[in-house]
Amino acid sequence: MNNSIFSFPNPANEPVKSYLPGSPERIAIDAELKRQRKIVVEIPLIIGGKEIRTGNTGKVVEPHNHKHILATYHKAGEKEVKMAVAAAMKAHKEWGETPWRTRAAILLKAADLVAGKYRALINASCMLGQSKNIYQAEIDSACELIDFLRYNAYFASEIYAMQPKCAPGQLNSMEYRPLEGFVLAVTPFNFTSIASNLNMTPVLMGNTTVWKPSTTSLLSNYYLMKVFMEAGLPDGVINFVPGPGAVIGKVALASPDLGGIHFTGSSSTFYGLWKSVGMNIDKYKTFPRLVGETGGKDFIFVHPSADSEAVANAAFCGAFEFAGQKCSAASRMYCPKSLWPKVLKGIKERCTKAKVGDVMDPENFVNAVIDEASFDTISAAIAYAKKSKDAEIVVGGTYDKKIGYFIQPTVIVAKDPHFRTMEEELFGPVLTVYVYEDKKIEQALEYCKTTSPYGLTGSVFGQDRLACDKICDELRYSAGNFYINDKPTGAVVGLQPFGGSRASGTNDKAGSSFNLMRWVTTRAIKETLVSPTTWKYSYMKK
Ligand code: NAD
Repeated sequence: MNNSIFSFPNPANEPVKSYLPGSPERIAIDAELKRQRKIVVEIPLIIGGKEIRTGNTGKVVEPHNHKHILATYHKAGEKEVKMAVAAAMKAHKEWGETPWRTRAAILLKAADLVAGKYRALINASCMLGQSKNIYQAEIDSACELIDFLRYNAYFASEIYAMQPKCAPGQLNSMEYRPLEGFVLAVTPFNFTSIASNLNMTPVLMGNTTVWKPSTTSLLSNYYLMKVFMEAGLPDGVINFVPGPGAVIGKVALASPDLGGIHFTGSSSTFYGLWKSVGMNIDKYKTFPRLVGETGGKDFIFVHPSADSEAVANAAFCGAFEFAGQKCSAASRMYCPKSLWPKVLKGIKERCTKAKVGDVMDPENFVNAVIDEASFDTISAAIAYAKKSKDAEIVVGGTYDKKIGYFIQPTVIVAKDPHFRTMEEELFGPVLTVYVYEDKKIEQALEYCKTTSPYGLTGSVFGQDRLACDKICDELRYSAGNFYINDKPTGAVVGLQPFGGSRASGTNDKAGSSFNLMRWVTTRAIKETLVSPTTWKYSYMKK
């Protein structure tokens, strides 16, 4: 075995390509979109490296054109989930003993494959399957995904190098063992990069996973699984099991071999998983690690000294990019009365110019929301606001699901700071604003701090830098990712480690060594060079 001590350099972030008309990347993506629209892919389960077809199938459609079928997929049942757990456990020993440098090499190869020959394939599948325009796909399924893979190799090298001191006569070391059991990776629809990361972070640290992908991101997730295999991932290290969450969760969580859950999705799903683990706790061989990044009700707090144009731009981009379906999307704003007319004008101007529609037309800034259930929830909330005496719709407010699940960017002004859409996560292109009297800023801050159960992202806008500091202190626990004079979205791996607490999750900071540490169980080893042979201490002498 190669006994060198390896370190990986601190990587540079993957550059975002421009996709200008005529550029090589634009030509490649246009051709790939056309190709993928002409085919219907069959997505099997992949367990222990083998494709499995259950015959119980579902459809993957384009959210912006829901009659268009992109793929059919096979659903796992109880039997297949048990097989996936068995395959993960079978691969566990060998993978856990594989030199970490070899494991990292597979991640780095996967990163290079996505950065190069599969960039258009993964981006196009993310655009079509998850309704992202090319920019939103590029920053997710190319750049962030690649960054997670490369940075994690670097973070792992730092972790393995962290060793205790040695006192005279002894050698001390810390062994970073993988968890004793498999990791259930439950991934959300909205970021392909997260689907990759929830598997590849535990895998890098020597664990094996049962991967329950989201049904509404299956196309890109399936291609991703194929990339991991091409990168050299051994059979059984990741077991890809699409299907109903309730079945997969129930069977996997009933296994005594559950070592941990790596989850991103809604808070309600995570509460459910946590409760099931609690109910089964005495059946497990170990206390499972529960890592979950969940929902948000992310805010922009505007100080009266703020630049109204910058606020309007942040509100527009933060709330409406990717149709407001980023966990970090701005969904409530506190704006002083003195600035509100200018801020509203700025948001309106942008909304008038921004088009909503199919991802195939690059002029569309906002695309469809993910599925009919999501469309119905969001449109019902807008309809509720329309009828309420406590709210007024000042921008947008229309929606249409005939062809795709389209919702116009919508701004609601809430007279009641506890209006429903100030509190609940909607996950759509809807921003609710509470306009406060300038002199009642302290009260507005209190509302911002206490209105929602979440604590994911938030930002403050103001030219008065000392005031921004004060607000940042006041809102200390309201966001795990806090921004000063910037929108609350767009965290970059290696630059702003991501995650929140309260109802937003366990705050284990994806894209940092804090997260990697959750997937190891350390063993401290002490070696005494010359073992003592007497049991008598000096104090025992008379
Ligand atoms: P979701 O909770 O509906 O689904 C997440 C995953 O859980 C899916 O794969 C789903 O099939 C699965 N699932 C559902 N019920 C299950 C069960 N009983 N057992 C096992 N698995 C089950 O969330 P979503 O709609 O895919 O994603 C949107 C949510 O994710 C939003 O709330 C958003 O804020 C959150 N999110 C958070 C972050 C973060 O970093 N905090 C990042 C992205 C998304």
